[in-house]
Amino acid sequence: HDELMKQAEKLSLAGQLAAGIAHEIRNPLTSVKGFIQLIATAPSVKSQYIDIIQTELDRIELIVSELLVLAKPHNLQFREDSIEQIVQDVVTLMAPQATLHAIEVKHQCAPGLLAIRCDSNQLKQVFINFIKNAIEACPNGGWIQIEVQQGEGGSIHISFTDNGCGIPEHILQKMGDPFLTTKKTGTGLGFMISQKIIENHQGQLHITSKEGEGTTVMVTLPTVPA
Ligand code: ADP
Ligand code: MG
Repeated sequence: HDELMKQAEKLSLAGQLAAGIAHEIRNPLTSVKGFIQLIATAPSVKSQYIDIIQTELDRIELIVSELLVLAKPHNLQFREDSIEQIVQDVVTLMAPQATLHAIEVKHQCAPGLLAIRCDSNQLKQVFINFIKNAIEACPNGGWIQIEVQQGEGGSIHISFTDNGCGIPEHILQKMGDPFLTTKKTGTGLGFMISQKIIENHQGQLHITSKEGEGTTVMVTLPTVPA
């Protein structure tokens, strides 16, 4: 019975997600179609509309590529890995983007951390999402602090703290809903996908935030017993 309930829940979630995706992709598609029709009837207006078409197509591409991360759970490759290395790789990868936005990224790992079992590509995707969100929350520059610590019961905590705009209470309550965004060109998929990936790793996500002060996103992951 429980199993049936779970399946029904999953199906209805999938349905909600599918409806959201269809909606989010139909909007830019409809607009592309409209502008193409305009150009077909009046080729002289082409230059005006090419940029809009490009932007709308970029949006579809972004949504689809973010969703692809979710669509490949069967390709997951779980291996023993070092969290220090993964965090280091992500920090190196994101450094240019942070510098460009006048954001200082500091990171610190406690000594003697145990190994984790993860799909490192997916986990990096999650950390990149959090750093991107932190960067986007600091439009006038700021800092991001990443800390890795040993938690209780052999767990590991990885926290991402920024001194950005913070999250209003009504948004905070809905974090993880698909297509929840406060940004002009946001997809509102990053957090939901990150949550899904962390779930697949038997981990947890915890987010605390204060408007005008900043945000901490904390990931807790199990470690491999030494
Ligand atoms: P997107 O970045 O495309 O908007 P996300 O799922 O990554 O979608 O994030 C959803 C929303 O959560 C963002 O639009 C933003 O309002 C809020 N948010 C997430 N992380 C932060 C952060 N570090 N600081 C402030 N707001 C954040
Ligand atoms: Mg994001």
